[in-house]
Amino acid sequence: CGIIGYIGDDKAAKILLNGLRRLEYRGYDSCGIGVIDDDKLIIKKNVGKVEEVAEKEGFLDVNGSVAIGHSRWATHGNVSRENAHPHTDCKGEIAVVHNGIISNYKEIKEDLIKKGHKFKSETDTEVVPHLIEDELKKFKEVNEENYIKAVINAIKKLKGTYALAIINKNFPNLLIGARNESPLILGVGNNCYFLGSDITAFLDYTNKAIPLEDGDIVIVKKDRDDYNIIIENDGVVVNREVMEINWDI
Ligand code: GLU
Repeated sequence: CGIIGYIGDDKAAKILLNGLRRLEYRGYDSCGIGVIDDDKLIIKKNVGKVEEVAEKEGFLDVNGSVAIGHSRWATHGNVSRENAHPHTDCKGEIAVVHNGIISNYKEIKEDLIKKGHKFKSETDTEVVPHLIEDELKKFKEVNEENYIKAVINAIKKLKGTYALAIINKNFPNLLIGARNESPLILGVGNNCYFLGSDITAFLDYTNKAIPLEDGDIVIVKKDRDDYNIIIENDGVVVNREVMEINWDI
């Protein structure tokens, strides 16, 4: 299973497809991508091999330069299109990919169902976008600052293991990642950033990377041609070293 995320200026779908191919060795049963294309969030996913799903679902038909991709190794819910990632909130605005297991998803799901949330899958993962949506509702105003806070508040409620990549069509300048006991690495490109379960996911584009640590939440914010990267852990902004990896793949 694996994760790839991208924010930059190039066609994200192509980069994600390449990353998913690179991650195939990790094993998976289904795969998918979520891309912000103008003001739309487009999800393409299904059961099967990366090449087949990409072809059948038309990954490369999607434009847009902010995106997340996933190859799934099912742990909760059978192998089906509905259970493939990305998963979204009720409105289809927030998309999340996840590796790992959210151990308290049942409690969270029951609580959210009581609040009126409708779930489409049997996965533990689907609680994450719904929880972010729920946390965002607690703010009077929906703006970037509050959205980031809502994501952090939602992640704080998760127990278990996770590598997460999150996008929101209303905030197309943001790519957010989080890690707890599942690997996640931030790739530092030339005017672009990546998230990957391992460096092979983006090594075709950059060999500069910041391995994230347990509890880290990384917020990559694109401001015209500039990027602002914040890594926080337990409410504290932390510094993580950029590493150069000299590997041939
Ligand atoms: N627990 C999640 C699921 O079953 C993620 C599995 C994975 O790591 O690929 O969908």
